[in-house]
Amino acid sequence: MTEGVGARPRVIYLGGFGRSGSTLLERMLGAVPGWVNVGELVDLPRSVLPDDERCGCGERFSSCAFWSEVGRRAYAGWDTDRLRRLADLRTEVARQRQVPMLLRAGRTGGRRLTEALGDYQQDYGRLYRAVAEVSGASYVVDASKGPAQGLALGVRGPGLADPGFDLSFVNLVRDPRGVAYSWSRRRHARPQAGADGGARATMWSPGVARSAAEWAALQSEMALIGRVSGIPMVRVRYEDLMAEPRAAMTSMLTTLGARAAAGDLAHVGDHDVTLTASHGLSGNPGRFEHGTLDLRPDDEWRRALPAGERRLVTAATLPWLQAYGYLRASASPTTAPTQG
Ligand SMILES: [Zn+2]
Repeated sequence: MTEGVGARPRVIYLGGFGRSGSTLLERMLGAVPGWVNVGELVDLPRSVLPDDERCGCGERFSSCAFWSEVGRRAYAGWDTDRLRRLADLRTEVARQRQVPMLLRAGRTGGRRLTEALGDYQQDYGRLYRAVAEVSGASYVVDASKGPAQGLALGVRGPGLADPGFDLSFVNLVRDPRGVAYSWSRRRHARPQAGADGGARATMWSPGVARSAAEWAALQSEMALIGRVSGIPMVRVRYEDLMAEPRAAMTSMLTTLGARAAAGDLAHVGDHDVTLTASHGLSGNPGRFEHGTLDLRPDDEWRRALPAGERRLVTAATLPWLQAYGYLRASASPTTAPTQG
């Protein structure tokens, strides 16, 4: 347990589109010995702290012993000015429009931007190292999802001091037709929201066309980051994780260069996973579930996504569907006229 204390943590950043199973993957990784998951850390200054949202352990953020200790070690307490600075820096350096600048390792953004990027990485470094110390883990899983955020934290280059952690991407992808269907179907209550959570208390639900376009844009960005940034990236399909969780987890850990000893995946069965409570922040309500959870692909979209919407999403994401093997096993709209 103490192996990682004081050491340089390896941050595994889950990048991908919402409703792709990132909360589940985050927790499956966080349950590996020597690993810890922190949820969508990017939401800490934005909503978790201001709304005193519930941690994955069930406690309010302010009452969670784990996060209190992390705050004490990282910033001498959860100082709201410090968190506000983190949010401001994020606006400055970790938004989508900064991706081209970030891909050049901060070099062409001017001195001020490079300094802001350096500050951002240093602040996160304190946070990640404190998480590693308090948990005793060497691997910290951050499920913040947005590509620009992961890039801003993972990019290294001249003018940027060592932030004291290394970052690798896991790009979790799910068939965009399943993603679009999931977004159109549900409006989840967000139980972590405070009593006065207001508009944030319900997850946003975009139209199918919009989610397909955004999905394609996000995957383009992830692919570009994978090619250009020098940050290691592993791609995992949600469908493989659900169908063959042990194989998918083993392959992921191996590709990440993490040695998985026999027994490290004892919590992962052939068709289920056994999870205890974690301290994951924000994200999917599924983070409150624990015990043995059945894993099965959520493929209701194959029956229930209306044909017109299915055609639209297929057309909008076709190169990706081909590249990720999503047109192979299943009936595609062109070969299954009853569905498409
Ligand atoms: Zn907690």
